[in-house]
Amino acid sequence: MMLGGMQDWKLRVTALIDHAARESGTREIVSRWADGSESRTNWAGVRRDALRMTQALRALGIKPGERIATLAMNHHRHLISWYGAVGAGGILHTINPRLFDDQLEYIANHAEDRVLLFDRQWTAIVERMKPRCPTIEHYICFDSDQPAPHFEDWIAPFDGETEWADGDERDPCMLCYTSGTTGNPKGVLYEHRSTMLHAMACMTAPVFGLDTRTVMMPIVPMFHAASWGTPWAGAAAGAKFVYSAVNDPAVLCDLFEREKVTAAAGVPTVWLGVLQHLERTGKPIPPSLSQVVCGGSAMPRAMVERFMKEGIRVAHAWGMTETSPIGTTGAETANWDELTFDEQVTIKAMQGRPPFGVELRCVDLGDADKVLPRDGKTAGVLQVRGPWVVKRYFKAEHDATNAEGWFDTGDVAVIHPDGTLQLTDRTKDVIKSGGEWISSVELENAAIGHSAVAEAAAIGVFHPKWDERPLLIVVKKPGADVDEAELRRYLGEHVAKWWVPDEIAFVDELPHTGTGKISKKDLRDTFRDYRWRA
Ligand code: AMP
Repeated sequence: MMLGGMQDWKLRVTALIDHAARESGTREIVSRWADGSESRTNWAGVRRDALRMTQALRALGIKPGERIATLAMNHHRHLISWYGAVGAGGILHTINPRLFDDQLEYIANHAEDRVLLFDRQWTAIVERMKPRCPTIEHYICFDSDQPAPHFEDWIAPFDGETEWADGDERDPCMLCYTSGTTGNPKGVLYEHRSTMLHAMACMTAPVFGLDTRTVMMPIVPMFHAASWGTPWAGAAAGAKFVYSAVNDPAVLCDLFEREKVTAAAGVPTVWLGVLQHLERTGKPIPPSLSQVVCGGSAMPRAMVERFMKEGIRVAHAWGMTETSPIGTTGAETANWDELTFDEQVTIKAMQGRPPFGVELRCVDLGDADKVLPRDGKTAGVLQVRGPWVVKRYFKAEHDATNAEGWFDTGDVAVIHPDGTLQLTDRTKDVIKSGGEWISSVELENAAIGHSAVAEAAAIGVFHPKWDERPLLIVVKKPGADVDEAELRRYLGEHVAKWWVPDEIAFVDELPHTGTGKISKKDLRDTFRDYRWRA
């Protein structure tokens, strides 16, 4: 067999930070902390400190392939720790602090994390995790010397004169769990190669359009779907980053203005807060802002229009933890310049088009072998395939894809003739509120625990602020009685506070499928236009 004549330059993510430090070393990384103080470093500084962290991990005895977890908001030390963890050959595991204790315990133990780096504000969570997560031997606090070693002190004894761990480009580098499915959270194990290919796609104009002049504020948390890959792609591009450890719209707007942010990425709930803040204060959208990246939930049309009227490019993205996460963004259609403004807004309010590297198709809801036409009408299950799409969940025994490599997203969609994806429903039984998952099954189980409840179903219903909120639909036991306030109080004792449904609908019976399961599809149809009282 004849091989090609080109070099084996490994697609390992440490090449990203080497490039950033070498070619854009002075480009700043700004962090705004919860207490209002700010820190500044640059890509050269991130690389130097990541190398020192690599040495510190080795001094702890951490070996390549072992998991290093973080429980932290967005700031430069968190960014350093990403490169420090992968630089030591470790697998970075970002944990979502909004999960509740059982889920945190499950994923830390399932991942077999050995080190946990955390923000001081999550100390209480960490204290509760300690006795329940025996694999974690080392705790490092990012922003305090109490009760664990301070990050800066931990890396202080080291000089950064070392080499990154070497290995294969197919080695794993990052582990992200998703609770957007039923059952236990599932871990998606990204590779160096998949992450590099994803980063290259993210830089391109149809996706995030990153270059050295970009000033990006990744509002999307680093613990959620890898902050949409921005920590990797931003290094490749040499962009300036502005991080905020809090998502208060006033703080974000102040940073937009002072740091001249050109692009920012966040879920619709965050953007809604920003727009409302500007309206309240009578301030204009900061003139430096030229691109809004928004995804994780559907972007409302009015929001798309508002930004586009200001001449801002909207990148409405669809993706999943399982797709690294970019599946689509607002890539303009081939006939874009011939469209009216209204037509352009309509297209941008849909879920966009895939960049090179992602293949999409819809299959029949009842027959997965039947591929549906791209006619903009026939809705089916969305499937996805590509080099940064999951093949098998961490520690799973079977592939998550079919024989041809297609992954079933659990989203229901139509694909338009111009390639635009439009999500219409979901087959997976979960609720996404403000960008975070709520398990309908756990809500139902908790409700059933109440002595007056015969049957209960939770569905996501459109909400103007949170995109979706859970609505609980309950059938009472004959002769038993319970009211909404009592049931909400009861649920508050059994699930996380933000999971408790704002409202509960009592009905005489629930619709069932032929196999006796509650038909969520029928319920979603019935309550599609439900009007929240508050
Ligand atoms: P996650 O793994 O938490 O990023 O969640 C992925 C899921 O979020 C997708 O499968 C969709 O159900 C939903 N999602 C992501 N982006 C969008 C979007 N732009 N519009 C509607 N739903 C979305």
